[in-house]
Amino acid sequence: MSLTRVNATAATLTKNRTEGSISPLSGMCVTCVDGCIGMCEIGKSAYRGPEVIYPQPFGIITAASEKDYPIDLSHFNILGTAVGAHGIEANSNVAIFPNVDLEVRIGKEKDIKLRLPFIIPGLGSTAVAQNNWDGLAIGSAISGVPLTIGENVCGMDPQSTIEDGKIVDSPELASRIKMYRDWQTDGYGDIILQANVEDTVLGVQEYGLEKLGVETVELKWG
Ligand code: SF4
Repeated sequence: MSLTRVNATAATLTKNRTEGSISPLSGMCVTCVDGCIGMCEIGKSAYRGPEVIYPQPFGIITAASEKDYPIDLSHFNILGTAVGAHGIEANSNVAIFPNVDLEVRIGKEKDIKLRLPFIIPGLGSTAVAQNNWDGLAIGSAISGVPLTIGENVCGMDPQSTIEDGKIVDSPELASRIKMYRDWQTDGYGDIILQANVEDTVLGVQEYGLEKLGVETVELKWG
């Protein structure tokens, strides 16, 4: 079984010319013909390279992988039971959903309180993150779940001020943090500030920690 994908995908707006006959080894058309305008990824990347670096249309989508892994979560069944109860009294009047408690504490000192045991990962400089920030921040804050501000927010903020190579002001970053803090209740959850290499060079986390009240950071390696 080959795990190679065909040489075309809706993610880069590309197609094979011979859609029904594709070499499984290369993903190319079975006959790559002289004079083809090059609709596949190889062809398109040869003459419109920047457009196939990122999934398209860039800025308004989130993207998933099309790779067909040999094994995935669909191969497992979680078999529930309607008998007994775990973590609560086996009583139909007690074991009810409002009594479900998924609260956890994380961190070295176990002092970061979460109402639910998950973290929303980095949503950074993309238009998707910016356009939906109010809903993301308010929803996660009132749910007591940490939300991560992803990379390059300051670098892509046209209102940013950079002095001597360091960020000193970014209205976009400040407003994202404020939106979460305004809706955070009883100290649950937290706003996490991620940094990639460019953010590290710009001193984004130092700016967030010292001037914007950030308390939790995530370093991105690479
Ligand atoms: S260049 Fe044209 S013929 Fe060759 S693999 Fe791509 S789509 Fe197929």
